[in-house]
Amino acid sequence: MLNIVIFGAPGSGKGTQSERIVAKYGINHISTGDVLRAEIKNGTELGKTAKSYIDQGQLLPDALIIDILASTLDGFKESKGVIFDGFPRTIAQAEALKKMLAERGQQVSVMLDLDVPEEELMTRLIKRGQESGRADDNEETIKKRLVVYHSQTAPLIDWYKAEGLYAHIQGLGELETITADICKAIDSVQ
Ligand code: AMP
Repeated sequence: MLNIVIFGAPGSGKGTQSERIVAKYGINHISTGDVLRAEIKNGTELGKTAKSYIDQGQLLPDALIIDILASTLDGFKESKGVIFDGFPRTIAQAEALKKMLAERGQQVSVMLDLDVPEEELMTRLIKRGQESGRADDNEETIKKRLVVYHSQTAPLIDWYKAEGLYAHIQGLGELETITADICKAIDSVQ
């Protein structure tokens, strides 16, 4: 079982690289952001709650997102593994993921930290907002999301280092080069 955490600030390329990893390794993909955006689109109660947090650039409460993650995970049958994209985002979520996988006799194989300079993140996200119309990709919300990333999510770097699962990936450069570096890191833990 290959359980990959793809990690990085908003705009670091997690979604793009996840698609490539899924195509190469045939594993399932969980993007908590995509799950929440689908709920918003479908006008569900969860979607309404999610929207109030997402529009403010804030994280949803851990308990809520952990529940969503668990039910998505249970939906994967005969899976070769999973790439976790946008989860965990707090230490509590990382601990919950560790427990969830342990209950299934599994563990995280590697955490890939896509490292991209802040200026580049801002440029990419503003461009994505213009192209996709994603509501939280506007300058004001992006700034809030980056603050949240630094205060609540970045501490996971040290957490995964302590677990011995951390892999640094240079997230700036050619898409192909970044994918090749990611594959090297994955293949070294297989
Ligand atoms: P993303 O598409 O991963 O950038 O997520 C978009 C937004 O969804 C975030 O800014 C949060 O408001 C919310 N979200 C996604 N994943 C999580 C998570 N693991 N924990 C809390 N909130 C999340």
